[in-house]
Amino acid sequence: MKTSYLCPRCRIVLNPHQEIIMLMSRGESRHLVLFSPRIGDYKVQTPSDVSFKEGEAVEFMCPSCHAGFRSPVADDIAEILLRQEDGTFLRVGFSRTYGKQATFLISRKEVKGFGEDAAAYREMNWFGEGGLWEGEQV
Ligand SMILES: [Zn+2]
Repeated sequence: MKTSYLCPRCRIVLNPHQEIIMLMSRGESRHLVLFSPRIGDYKVQTPSDVSFKEGEAVEFMCPSCHAGFRSPVADDIAEILLRQEDGTFLRVGFSRTYGKQATFLISRKEVKGFGEDAAAYREMNWFGEGGLWEGEQV
């Protein structure tokens, strides 16, 4: 099975080809934005008439069911699921602050941080109450 990123709620595949497709919103305006599937690659492709500012807080949402991806464990983190080749799941957390480079791979046993801003989250409790999505088996 190919590695895929999924919406934690409706489980639709967010990267049908390569890039991850998410809705990114600021206030009432929503845009489809492409993200690299490579962990630690922060390249973002926005529509040509849309730009986000460094440091701006944005919401990430599922393009299908419109669920917000805000993490249950931290307000400034968004989370999606990564289905690995063996069919098991990891949580993928990333900063909701545009331009901030912090990504996390979260399994039952450990959290791995990527990106130059990841160290700031070292003390975070990824496994606390509400740390898993409803009905999720990771
Ligand atoms: Zn969804």
